[in-house]
Amino acid sequence: MKSKYQKIKGTFDILPPETEVWQHIESTIHHICQQFSFQEIRTPAIESVDLFKRNIGDGTDVSKEMFVWKDQSGKEISLKPEMTAPVVRAYIESGFFRKYPLCKMYYIDSFFRREKPQKGRQRQFNQFGVEAFGTKNSEQDAEIILIATQILKKLNIDNTNLSINNIGDSDTRIKYESKLRNYFNDHKNSLSELSKARLEKNPMRILDSKEKEDQTIIKNAPMIKDLLSTEEKEHFSSVLTHLKGLGINYNENPYLVRGLDYYNGTTFEITTQSTGSQNALCGGGRYDSLVEKMGGPETPAVGFAAGIERIILEAKQELGKKNIDIYISCNDEKYTSKGLNIIQNLVENEYKIFFDTNKKNIKNQIKDAVKNNAKFMITINQEISVKNLISKKETNVSESEILPFLKNQ
Ligand code: AMP
Repeated sequence: MKSKYQKIKGTFDILPPETEVWQHIESTIHHICQQFSFQEIRTPAIESVDLFKRNIGDGTDVSKEMFVWKDQSGKEISLKPEMTAPVVRAYIESGFFRKYPLCKMYYIDSFFRREKPQKGRQRQFNQFGVEAFGTKNSEQDAEIILIATQILKKLNIDNTNLSINNIGDSDTRIKYESKLRNYFNDHKNSLSELSKARLEKNPMRILDSKEKEDQTIIKNAPMIKDLLSTEEKEHFSSVLTHLKGLGINYNENPYLVRGLDYYNGTTFEITTQSTGSQNALCGGGRYDSLVEKMGGPETPAVGFAAGIERIILEAKQELGKKNIDIYISCNDEKYTSKGLNIIQNLVENEYKIFFDTNKKNIKNQIKDAVKNNAKFMITINQEISVKNLISKKETNVSESEILPFLKNQ
């Protein structure tokens, strides 16, 4: 039978039992972020269009891909395509910058970008991320990267690469952009059409190109590290020293740039070694001038965002088995109220139960219980029987004996 309605292109339902994988990933993220004393932040799904256009950059892909509409009052609203700008808005608006000069937060949320749907690229997708405000110190960059690697490690994702770079401040980037533009102009005829289009406005994005014909040209392009100030070079080298000390492998990628305008200084990306162009699991870096640009005090900051769908594609995680403790059969209406009371009592005592409200016949209920790995089956009639589904032993007990009996098994 075909449903009358279909989901919107680029969106997905997450159905059981896959939801158990999501729950496992989400609880790992909560646990590890909280071990580092990062606190969770939640912001609205909608924001003013301006918040993103002005801060992530009007010309960026993310900005162009936003779901935007005018509400009844004519105000331009957008579904959020990313979280850094909303977190910074909330950080300033709430006055947190006064209360927490060093403020460490994390999130797990859904984001929306009107991209061309393909494997690992959806129109509604989920990210988790962390943002730390209030210090320029390289220890903060290292802690952020450590959190990302700890979460991936806990999820048994080990075939990853960490690439890292320092893209300097905006003055350095202006100089670099002009150097790059000159270089790519000299090779313009061999560049892909996409890169030709980026040449004037955003030559740094050419470095990100996946087009085959661009690769040899990119390989010989000027490097930003030659233009960094002494302070920037020192910061970068101390981040790398911390990573070495932690035993976190990385490769310095002088051409790693990020797609959003607010980044400066340290930038990094964690990719998987699996094939496919959507292999970026996590991306982040510093955005030291964004808080000030958005009306707050001068506050350096660093963070990352990681895509949960892509992590799930990588996670060598077995789909969670149901593992019920007790399967309940209570088929005779006369005993429903007794049955519901027993269920209430079992759940209050931390047992995981499955109540067959469909009242299948007992033979099928036993089959069903075994299939779902239940340890016990309790059948409630005038008598109450507890069957151990492993030893197959069945025992009649009174209602008050159920819990002590189960504890003794
Ligand atoms: P970004 O916010 O673009 O830096 O992306 C951070 C991470 O989010 C990426 O490395 C991906 O893992 C994930 N991501 C970004 N866009 C999408 C998308 N359209 N669909 C699925 N995952 C995405």
